[in-house]
Amino acid sequence: MTHSKKILTILSKINFRLQENKDFLTGLDSAIGDGDHGINMSRGFLAVMEKLPQMEDKDIATILKNVGMTLVSTVGGASGPLYGTAFMRAGAAAAGKTALRGADFLALLDAAVEGIRQRGKAQKGEKTMLDALVPALEAFEAEHASGASPRRALERAVDAAREGVEHTKTIIATKGRASYLGERSLGHQDPGATSALLMLEALLESLE
Ligand code: ADP
Ligand code: MG
Repeated sequence: MTHSKKILTILSKINFRLQENKDFLTGLDSAIGDGDHGINMSRGFLAVMEKLPQMEDKDIATILKNVGMTLVSTVGGASGPLYGTAFMRAGAAAAGKTALRGADFLALLDAAVEGIRQRGKAQKGEKTMLDALVPALEAFEAEHASGASPRRALERAVDAAREGVEHTKTIIATKGRASYLGERSLGHQDPGATSALLMLEALLESLE
């Protein structure tokens, strides 16, 4: 089970992974975008970290909604509103919950991914963060349905996200800045799919 305090630990881990990969993400975005994805994610999560002390006595829903609003207001790029929406939707799905079990994780992940889909008007196969997140959600759902623990389900979700990131190298971008490149986006790994994988890895690490 995951309580409010654990959510703060997870957010710190996510921040750590993103800061550690800031230059890597920016490098990926330099190849097919405008080279700011690492900077955007770094700035957004540093702002989230600054708010964590005030969130210590808040419930899960409030924490996640605050994270979402912070990302929307501090990240300039497309990824800010998208990840911001994801965290706000996850927060809404966590309303009234003091602890998260496997089924709750699934509901939160589902709400987050649906939020990104709607906000970005995108789907799997367009070389975006959804190419990591949708396979991750599907894997989590399948494992959960067959009785796996949240940790096991998340392990499979991370594997699926990793495969999804690899797959982005083989497809043409049809959403976001990378879509301006058309076929020239082929061969490059999507930065947003990569940051989504890093966040899922951080989540898994925090459960271990
Ligand atoms: P910007 O493209 O505005 O510079 P970022 O560089 O921070 O913003 O983020 C780029 C990432 O955002 C892309 O790699 C892609 O994964 C994601 N992205 C862009 N547009 C969309 C969209 N419509 N739906 C989902 N994800 C998107
Ligand atoms: Mg960019």
